[in-house]
Amino acid sequence: MKIGLFFGSFNPIHIGHLIIANHVATQTDLDKVWMVVSPQNPFKPKKTLAKDHDRLHLVRLGIGDNPKIEASNVEFSLPQPSYTVDTLAVLKEKYPDKEFALIMGGDNLQSFHLWKNYEQILSQHDIYVYKRPNTDLGDLATHPRVRICEAPLLDISATYIRECIKARKSIRYLVPEPVWEYLEGSRMYREN
Ligand code: ATP
Repeated sequence: MKIGLFFGSFNPIHIGHLIIANHVATQTDLDKVWMVVSPQNPFKPKKTLAKDHDRLHLVRLGIGDNPKIEASNVEFSLPQPSYTVDTLAVLKEKYPDKEFALIMGGDNLQSFHLWKNYEQILSQHDIYVYKRPNTDLGDLATHPRVRICEAPLLDISATYIRECIKARKSIRYLVPEPVWEYLEGSRMYREN
């Protein structure tokens, strides 16, 4: 089974993330997508970053009953900061029968050569890259491990959603309905 890993802080998850996850899960040879929630770095606490388990819960609520997408908390128990190459090694050991690939935006591919052990990652894993507006993909675009996808893009970010919540503006339809309902009844993102 081939799993695509989509990393993010998902603070909170929004439909831009889910459109990408569902696109690559259904329109490529990937069997599944795991949305890997990045934990809070204990040495660099960020005021606006919600608690790990709250963000994970919202990712699960957002995915709902889609059998092709799952939430993963694998990085919660890894030393911080967790580098992708190390997370991949842990996953390989934990799930020896699965093949792991990465999913990233073109902006990330452009700076991928700065990632820890990027050549090792590329030698062992496919990378599914979705194009982002006004972003050059860089030299790695033609690497045999890199697959470029044309996914529909939505111009929203978690930052925008947090700002709306703080300003008491509606985020309905920008996040999946159960995520909206949960956030309506919670104090998440209301202060700071
Ligand atoms: P923030 O605004 O807090 O920086 P974000 O919305 O960019 O958050 P992340 O958790 O950083 O969300 O995103 C995880 C991944 O999803 C990143 O690789 C990011 O580039 C990508 N991403 C975020 N928003 C979109 C979007 N609207 N369309 C496509 N990809 C997105």
